[in-house]
Amino acid sequence: MTDYSALIQQQHAFFSTSQTQSISLRKEALTRLRDTIRRHERDIMDALKADLNKSEFEAYATEIGIVLSEIRFVMKRLRAWARPEKVKTPLTHIGSSGAIYSEPYGVVLIIAPWNFPFQLALMPLIGAIAAGNCAVIKPSELTPRTSAVIVQIINETFSEAYVAVVEGGAEASQALLREKVDYIFFTGAPPVGKLIMEAAARRLIPVTLELGGKSPCIVHKDANLKLAAKRIVWGKFINAGQTCIAPDYLYVHESVKTSLIAHLKQAIEEMYGVDPLNNPSYTRIVNEKHFNRLLAYLNEEQVRIGGASDRDTLRIEPTVLTGVEADDEVMKDEIFGPIMPLLAYDEIDEVLAAINSRPKALALYIFSENKAVQKKVLTGASFGGGCVNDTVYHFTSPYLPFGGVGSSGMGAYHGQSSFKLFSHRKSVLKMTTRFDLPFRYPHMKHALQRV
Ligand code: NAD
Repeated sequence: MTDYSALIQQQHAFFSTSQTQSISLRKEALTRLRDTIRRHERDIMDALKADLNKSEFEAYATEIGIVLSEIRFVMKRLRAWARPEKVKTPLTHIGSSGAIYSEPYGVVLIIAPWNFPFQLALMPLIGAIAAGNCAVIKPSELTPRTSAVIVQIINETFSEAYVAVVEGGAEASQALLREKVDYIFFTGAPPVGKLIMEAAARRLIPVTLELGGKSPCIVHKDANLKLAAKRIVWGKFINAGQTCIAPDYLYVHESVKTSLIAHLKQAIEEMYGVDPLNNPSYTRIVNEKHFNRLLAYLNEEQVRIGGASDRDTLRIEPTVLTGVEADDEVMKDEIFGPIMPLLAYDEIDEVLAAINSRPKALALYIFSENKAVQKKVLTGASFGGGCVNDTVYHFTSPYLPFGGVGSSGMGAYHGQSSFKLFSHRKSVLKMTTRFDLPFRYPHMKHALQRV
């Protein structure tokens, strides 16, 4: 459908029937979504293979499995989350009770990126449905096969008046942004995030921005180096580094640099083999434009591990750069590919000063056995979320709100945070009519009055 106004109006009309107020309807909707995804598992995997050469392992672990487990998590708890939340009342409000009602916004617009094209379109949808909204998803045009499977799944599961998909690029998003939606959930690059927020501001539409940036990873001198290397290689090179929370660059204590590099090399070989370009399970770069952008970062003198690439298959080896300076090109923008610059440091304060001189990161990772160092880093830098002694894994806990801060985004979702994000929290005070306190009225100084 290209008549976006008609589509959005149809959704408003459906929303106004109040059918989505029913928790049973929401749970049924999530059950149907789960079942359709399960039926199309093979199609999703094939699409992800065609769009990004994702292996079945990655497709399940980082896209399908995560979505199914979010549905399971939400369905179990939805009824309890949706109950009005009773709150205390102060003494001045005697005779009253307070409660917060979770109210759906109405029609939610979800604009998704290409890097986890299935998961990042579906995860917000789960929250939007759980909270009782209608939704329109705009998947990324850069992963067309996955976009087509999303259309198929949504069309098989929902009426267009409840949940719909609009395919297309920036023009489709912009056309949708001119429509009267009630909430905008955007995942993508910070410059586009600014345009989305501008469009939302014109109509005072609430917005969540899940953006990106350069996420630092610090390896202190007392870290368990072998384990750190394994977890860094996993978080950095899964999806060929095209992950918003991948460690973008590494700060390593000078005294353990050589040893960490040896462990990184070993971990890369263990996970991707000695010739990753011929490993059929290694994800490719999404398109030639991004492939060229990434190759421009490769300076032969700095390549310490990897560095080879294959234009025909759009793949770049897991690569580690050393001898990198803070003002090198590779340290300017988010890398979003399998290239990891490594910088050495002597004092943790230098690292914090360098991190704090940059825009706030979406994620930060600190590897250290020392609690004081961990605390210093966790409290000394502002970032969306992160891990101590791991990378990326915080994303997969439904108990942890996921989102950015500053230029890495605003708002957080997953699990109950998603339910809250897509609900207006409506505060209601219920007052007794059995008596009335005179203090608040002008010229009425007497004590309790019967009504
Ligand atoms: P992108 O911003 O280019 O595109 C995201 C979506 O916005 C797509 O659907 C696209 O069609 C649409 N779009 C593009 N230009 C637009 C415009 N001018 N007006 C309106 N809509 C427009 O991002 P991308 O390249 O798909 O994804 C990569 C970026 O997303 C990286 O910066 C990454 O860090 C970030 N990201 C963040 C998260 C997160 O959860 N915070 C997750 C994945 C990716």
